[in-house]
Amino acid sequence: MHSSAYFLLAALALASACESKTATTGEANVAAKSATIAATTAAGEDPADAPTSGAAATATEEANAAPAPAPGTIPAAKAADAAAIYARPQVPILCYHQIRDWTGRDSKGAKDYIVPVAAFKAQIKMLADSGYHTVSPDQLYAYLTTGARLPAKPIMLTFDDTDLDQFTVARPTLAQYNFKAMYFVMTVSLGRPKYMSKAQVKQLSDEGNVIGSHTWDHHNVKKYQGQDWVTQIDKPTKTLEEITGKKINYFAYPFGLWNPQAFPELKQRGFVAAFSLAEKRDQQDPLFTIRRIIASGYWSPRTLHNSIVQSF
Ligand SMILES: [Zn+2]
Repeated sequence: MHSSAYFLLAALALASACESKTATTGEANVAAKSATIAATTAAGEDPADAPTSGAAATATEEANAAPAPAPGTIPAAKAADAAAIYARPQVPILCYHQIRDWTGRDSKGAKDYIVPVAAFKAQIKMLADSGYHTVSPDQLYAYLTTGARLPAKPIMLTFDDTDLDQFTVARPTLAQYNFKAMYFVMTVSLGRPKYMSKAQVKQLSDEGNVIGSHTWDHHNVKKYQGQDWVTQIDKPTKTLEEITGKKINYFAYPFGLWNPQAFPELKQRGFVAAFSLAEKRDQQDPLFTIRRIIASGYWSPRTLHNSIVQSF
C-alpha cells in the first residue's frame, strides 16, 4: 500500500479506536461503567470480609517458581471440559490502556481509560503490598484447563492498544515489584507517535512478558466477514510472531465485544484463549470469554482492591 494511503487509514483507524474508547455509548463503556458501579458499591466494605478468590488457596512457593507448560503441550484429553473450567474460581485480571496524567482535553468517559502516573504507581504498590502475585496467561491457561496450582493471590495485568506509556511508565513500575504482564498489541499502531515500536514490543516479550493480539486496527470482531479475518487476525498474528519469535496464543477482543461465531474462527487460527471485559462469560466457551475489569483512572488503591474482590 502507498505510504500516504497507509497513513490515512492508520490515522482513521486510530481516531475511530479513540473515539469508541471515549464515547459514552459503546458496550465496552457499559462494561467499564458497571465495573465502576460495582467498585463504588463495594467501597467502604472491609476487603477482609469479602470472599476471596478460591484460586489463592492453592498457593505454594513452588507454584511461584514453576514455569507453566506451553498451551500446546497440554494434551486435549487431559483438559477439563467447559463446565469444569467455568466452575473454577476466576483469577482477577486487570485491563489498562493509557498511563499518563490527565489533560484538559480528556473527557470524563476517557478518564476511565487513562490512569494518571501517580495513581497507577499507587495501584501497583497496593497489589504488591497486599501480597498479589502476577501470573502469566500460560499459568492461567494451565490452571483453567488442568487445575494447575497458582501462586498466592494470583492476578493478571493486561495492557491494551500498544500505548507508549505502557513501555515508558508501566514497565519500570512493574519491574520494581518483579511483576509481569500481558500486552495486547494493535499492530496498525506499531511505531507510530505515542505508540510502542516493534523493538519495544520485542523487549517486553524478551523480558518475560507475553504479547497477545488485539487485531490490526481495533475493529469489532462481531462485524468480521471473509477477508476481515485475514486483515484483523491472520496478518497481525504473523507480524507479532515475527517480532517476538514466539507463537501468539492469546487474543483480546476490541471493546471487549465478542460473539460465539468468533470462537471457531479464533481456534482455527491457533488461539487457545481470548479475553473480554467485565460482562458474563460464555458458559459453553469460558476460555474464549475470560473476564477482565478496566482499572479506572478514577480509582484509589482501595477502590481497586474492593473492585477486584467484588468482581471476581
Ligand atoms: Zn483496545
